Amino acid sequence: MTFERPLSCRFCAAPGGRLTLRAHHVYGGDATRAFWECSHCGIVFLSPPLTPEEEARFYRQEFEKFMEQRSGPDRDWKGAEAHVASNQDHVLRRMQVLQPFLAEQTNVLEIGCSSGFMLDAMQAAGAHCTGVEPSAVFTDYLLKKGHKVYGSLDALEADQPRPFDLITHFFVLEHIADPRSFIRQKLRLLKPEGRMVMEVPSATDALTSLYRIPAFERFYWSIAHHYYYKPKSLRYLLDELGLAYQLIPSQRYDLSNHMVWLGEGRPGGQERYAGVFSAELVELYGRDLIEGGYPDTYFVVLTRPE
Ligand SMILES: [Zn+2]
Repeated sequence: MTFERPLSCRFCAAPGGRLTLRAHHVYGGDATRAFWECSHCGIVFLSPPLTPEEEARFYRQEFEKFMEQRSGPDRDWKGAEAHVASNQDHVLRRMQVLQPFLAEQTNVLEIGCSSGFMLDAMQAAGAHCTGVEPSAVFTDYLLKKGHKVYGSLDALEADQPRPFDLITHFFVLEHIADPRSFIRQKLRLLKPEGRMVMEVPSATDALTSLYRIPAFERFYWSIAHHYYYKPKSLRYLLDELGLAYQLIPSQRYDLSNHMVWLGEGRPGGQERYAGVFSAELVELYGRDLIEGGYPDTYFVVLTRPE
């Protein structure tokens, strides 16, 4: 054991006595790092965190490769079109949450728009979309498609955009070292009463919190994530920011994916047994996980105060 117990919680500053070791294997990390859980605020945090220099290097050089290795055959990172096609399950799940907030000419900003598969879907629903994506991998593709995309939030703000009705970010918050200033900064770009919809992986995930599969433990806790959230820590954060919000549990990975983790100890099983499991069974399994308190994902819908 070469990692050290942190002196306090990185998220709420509770003393070290409130911390328990949650994961000692950090995917993509080394033996000096671990994930700790705080019994006060509920967060699971990486310690020690990546330095800003290490983090900049990671996103500049390694992120897409890292994601391609990590996501297995479920997500295709080989090209923009393939990436868009392989993410349509995300589109379906997210649009159910977004639909009430989308109308003709709704002015939307997506932070971390990747290959633009959500921009495509929201635009098709009538919205006027802008994207921010620091990775340059898909930039040419997005521009060719006619999307309005910026390489950074600073570049967007320099253009003085009109206030947005809706800001979305999916699987972004867990990568952010300072989520408080991240959320505050985005709220300033919203109209009063504007919405922000975000999606975060949840540490309530059955594969770690119910089945505790050793192979999954070695996979789940990623060097790319500063924090793993669950309802308790999300409430802690959003209450502290004084925001009105709604938490919506969701199950991304299906029964086949879970069976492959249990049987083979690896990712990539999504829909593998679609010919055997009925759609009703898969639906019911997901619903039972959610109702039992083990969803793998949460949506947060929050409203900018007046
Ligand atoms: Zn804490």
